[in-house]
Formats: sequence, C-alpha cells, structure tokens
Amino acid sequence: MNDILYDIQLKIKDKILFDYDMGNSTWFRAGGKAKGFIVINNLEDLKTIVGFADKIKYTITGVGSNLLVRDSGYEGLIIKLGKSFNKIKIKNNILSVGAGVLDFNLAKFALKNSIKDFEFFTGIPGTIGGAVTMNAGCYGAQTSDNLNRILILNSKGLIKYVYSNELNLKYRSSNIEKNSIILKADFNFEFSSQEKILLKNNYIKSKRKKTQPIKEKTSGSTFKNPKGRFAAELIEKAGCKGMKVGDASVSHMHSNFIINNGNATASDIEKLGTKVKNRVKEVHGIELEWEIKILGE
Ligand SMILES: Cc1cc2nc3c(=O)[nH]c(=O)nc-3n(C[C@H](O)[C@H](O)[C@H](O)COP(=O)(O)OP(=O)(O)OC[C@H]3O[C@@H](n4cnc5c(N)ncnc54)[C@H](O)[C@@H]3O)c2cc1C
Repeated sequence: MNDILYDIQLKIKDKILFDYDMGNSTWFRAGGKAKGFIVINNLEDLKTIVGFADKIKYTITGVGSNLLVRDSGYEGLIIKLGKSFNKIKIKNNILSVGAGVLDFNLAKFALKNSIKDFEFFTGIPGTIGGAVTMNAGCYGAQTSDNLNRILILNSKGLIKYVYSNELNLKYRSSNIEKNSIILKADFNFEFSSQEKILLKNNYIKSKRKKTQPIKEKTSGSTFKNPKGRFAAELIEKAGCKGMKVGDASVSHMHSNFIINNGNATASDIEKLGTKVKNRVKEVHGIELEWEIKILGE
C-alpha cells in the first residue's frame, strides 16, 4: 500500500500524510488512522489519484461531520478537497458551488445575495459534497430541493454532469457511485427579501442551539428517522438516553446524538450505537438504520 502511495506522491504536488490520525479530521474526534490522507488543491492531482483506482482504495470526505473511522483504520487514501474547490459563483441563473464549500458559507452567500431557500444550510456543519451525497437537510428542507446538477469525477477518470433526477436523492441518501468525487453542485434559485432570509437563518440557529448538542464531539443524527417516526423519540422511549459505552454516551439533549465525552474510541461509539439499535428493536420492533457513515475494517 505504502509503495503505491509513494508512486502517487511522485506524480502530484499536494502532500500525502502517511498514517494520518482520522480523529483529527472527523467531528467525533475519535477513530483510527488512514494509510494516507491528502488535501487536494488541483484537479489534475485528483485525476492522477483516480488513475490508481484499480491499485488502491480511496474515499473522499468533506469535514467528517457524518463520519466514523474504525479504530483499526482505513487501508487506503482519504481525500479532502482543498481551497480551490471552495468557489461560489452565480452564472446564467445558476448558483454554482464548489464541493468543498462549507454549508454555512453557502447560507451566508445566499443571505448576502438575497437568495432564498438555502437557510437550512446554516445549521449543517458539512460541505456541499457531503450535503449532496447525504441529501442533507433539516426543518423541512433538503439539498435536493434546489439541486439542478452536479459535476463529478468518476472512478474511470471521466468528468461529467449528472442531473439531480438521475441521483435518486431520497431522505439522507443518493445513488452517487462509490469512488465518484463531486467537484461542484449547480443549484436553481430565487430571490427574496434579505430580512425574511435573515429571520429564517436566525430561527434555525436558535432552534438548533436549544435542541442539539452542537458544541460536542458528535456526528449529528446517529440513525435515520424510520418512516413516520422520529429516531430520537424511539431511542428515548426505549430508555437509552444517557446510555454509555466507555467514554461515549447518548446525549441527554438529543437522544439521536452520540457524544464522545473526551476519550471515546470509535469502537465505544459503534458499540453504543449497536446497543441502542438492539434496544429499540426489542422495545419497538423497529430496525434503526445508521445515518453515520462508518469506514474501515
Ligand atoms: C452537530 C451536527 C449537526 C448535524 N445536523 C445535521 C442536519 O440537521 N441534517 C443533516 O442532514 N445532517 C446533519 N449532520 C450530519 C452532517 O453534517 C451531514 O451529513 C453533512 O452533509 C456531512 O458533510 P461532510 O462534508 O462533513 O461529509 P463527511 O461526513 O465527510 O462525509 C459524508 C459522506 O459524504 C461523502 N462525501 C463527502 N464529500 C464528498 C464529495 N466531494 N464527493 C463525493 N462524496 C463525498 C463521504 O464519502 C461520505 O460518504 C450534523 C452533524 C453534526 C456534527
């Protein structure tokens, strides 16, 4: 594995960090090491890496706000998009957003330019690449609502547009091909008054502050809401609030959030999630589905 990473390094400008502790790049601040980790700042380098797709495993991350890397680590290269993928432009009535842009910065841009319906991004601590993949959303809005198309680099090295209706964007899921890298997302948009947008932004911010442990080491919702039910309510009614494994616990503020209280391992977090899942199945007969993406063997 390291040999291949060294081969790649010789062909690209950005630096591969070897045996990189993924706890540094995930919101959980826990987890194992990736064989390699790289922040990529140009498309050519990205294409070079993808050219090795048949020789190494790779995966792309945003800011790791929905990600847990197992303690045993990831036997491959984890790629993060750097600053050159952080541009936001308006062209021909399309809002074009680099996949590395933080959701929060897109909401700020939309506010500044009096663009409505991007307010929900205020409260999601990820990137646009992650938002499209997860079809992230909150308070009745989701990424797919205004998405027109995305530009991807697929595992064969092809760069192409894929339209929103081809992505099978459903509640917290999409059919984006494994190893495809989203480079940018184009959104349709409409204008509104800045005051209305600001009001909505502030409402979302204050609601989240009151209901979610946003300052903690967490990955947001651990499980998807089953159809017609709220995972948090099922978890609470199953008596899991405050449940612990090692230094991981179920949040007292929001039962669908797992928190690393400081020294939790990825295994503590995953074991706790599994314990909650089993308890909910026992009590309610409902099988919860992980929303958090888990990487590693
Ligand atoms: C405090 C907190 C609150 C949260 N609240 C919400 C919420 O209200 N609603 C909600 O939907 N989510 C929420 N989340 C979860 C998380 O923020 C979202 O899922 C977010 O979209 C993940 O973005 P990311 O860039 O961090 O992706 P990561 O967590 O890094 O990755 C998530 C997935 O996206 C893929 N991915 C990332 N970038 C790309 C790319 N460029 N190309 C292809 N694939 C890519 C990764 O491979 C992975 O499969 C919350 C998380 C936290 C910590």
